[in-house]
Amino acid sequence: MHSSHQLQWHLARLWTLAIALTVAGCVTSTQKNTRIASTDLQQALRPVNGKTAYAGFDGQHNQFYLGNAFLERRILLSVDGTRLQTISILDKVTGRYSVAQASEEFRFQVANLTFSGTDSLLRYQRYDIVSGLEGSRKLIIWMSYDSVTTESEIDLSPTLNNLFPRPRSSNFNFRLQICYQTYPNQPRIDKWLVFENRSNTPLVLQGIVVESLPILYPYRFQLLTKRTGGHLEIYHSPDLSGQMIALTNQAPGILKFFDVDRQQDTVSVGLGSSTLNHSTKISVFLNQPVKIPTVSCTAGTFMLDQVLGQTVINQRYLKREDLKSYHVLDFEPDNLSALTDELSGKAGRRRALFLPVATVGKEFLDRLDWQLSNPTDSTVPIYCLLSEYGFFMVKAVEDLMDRCPLDLLILAGPIFENRNSALLGCDKIEHGHPDRSESIFLTYKWLFNFSLYIRNQYPDVKLGVTAVTYGVDLPDYACWQYFDFFVP
Ligand SMILES: [Zn+2]
Repeated sequence: MHSSHQLQWHLARLWTLAIALTVAGCVTSTQKNTRIASTDLQQALRPVNGKTAYAGFDGQHNQFYLGNAFLERRILLSVDGTRLQTISILDKVTGRYSVAQASEEFRFQVANLTFSGTDSLLRYQRYDIVSGLEGSRKLIIWMSYDSVTTESEIDLSPTLNNLFPRPRSSNFNFRLQICYQTYPNQPRIDKWLVFENRSNTPLVLQGIVVESLPILYPYRFQLLTKRTGGHLEIYHSPDLSGQMIALTNQAPGILKFFDVDRQQDTVSVGLGSSTLNHSTKISVFLNQPVKIPTVSCTAGTFMLDQVLGQTVINQRYLKREDLKSYHVLDFEPDNLSALTDELSGKAGRRRALFLPVATVGKEFLDRLDWQLSNPTDSTVPIYCLLSEYGFFMVKAVEDLMDRCPLDLLILAGPIFENRNSALLGCDKIEHGHPDRSESIFLTYKWLFNFSLYIRNQYPDVKLGVTAVTYGVDLPDYACWQYFDFFVP
């Protein structure tokens, strides 16, 4: 009798511990499993509340997990380490699973090969859990591709069309980090990819999908979506209420790519463009890792805008009439000295300048070699920011600011060529950038680096960007990270 009570007491204790672990997001039984690192266990045992974000590896089920009080995502690693698939995203508030079958997880092409979480070309290496700012947790899963190990898996038997087949993968070797991050007080999981090239030939990526998820599997016949700017909201009821999940693509401007495939019940989010005829390419060079912009998965009605604050967002739209308190200048004179004279004469009022960042007047600059590859008939030539013109522009702005400080600098005018309402980049490789589609990614990078530089050099200056310059009608998360104002 006595021993039975003791047993029951022990069982009760174990049961309590099991519940604590389940709540903490680690459903592994603790008694037997020795594959769990002690750090994982410590993380799992930490009490879960609104302030806790966690991540770990559940060795018994071969699953990575991360989450907080709102969401939990579980990612299954196949036993042979070649496949990585999200198997569930649980909305803890409603108790609903947004993903109830295994995902493709990610996708991209190199040469003629398609890589994804399901195709078995990549090999799992290791994982890291990193504590970030303000209690955030980052899970990094490392996978790699080494052409030497996989050549044997590629069919090299000759065919009539190809009598001397060569391995298509003979010259590349890379490492991929699949990164996830959760934050304590937001129903949000971020995900991004980092590519590291480990061979001398450039790794050329195409068709990059950061997130490929089967969405709302139990509700597939009612799948409804709504896209605004960089958000894709997915509902399961016809009146667009009870939003379950939203994917926010943090890729800038026209680079955002969304695809809802109702036949396959999947949502793909990544880099590309509906206004480009071809997919975005990204070259990765040896020792120069490239981060592919983040896709955030949020639950309920939580929008990433809330991180910035909606009132703040509204104040960040700037119309011409909002500029009444400024002395507004358009950068149109033939030379900089005329403008600085004008600016100096207007002391007292705040000064705002619309700077046509890639289209300064023809009279002012006449450098055909700096122009975009295919100038249209328009009277205003567009210069390639990735050419030497970019350096010239930075210098010109510095000269201007040093002689006559501005309060607000708004980047205006087109930076890409608009042909049949499709925005095109520059394919003059003599500018030092790869081909046209790749120049778009790099031009946005230039804009963001320019913003960082100006903020660092002139911390009091506010920066704005116009819709024409940014390439889309609505600002997005990437834009808000680098610019104070968006001018529609
Ligand atoms: Zn160029």
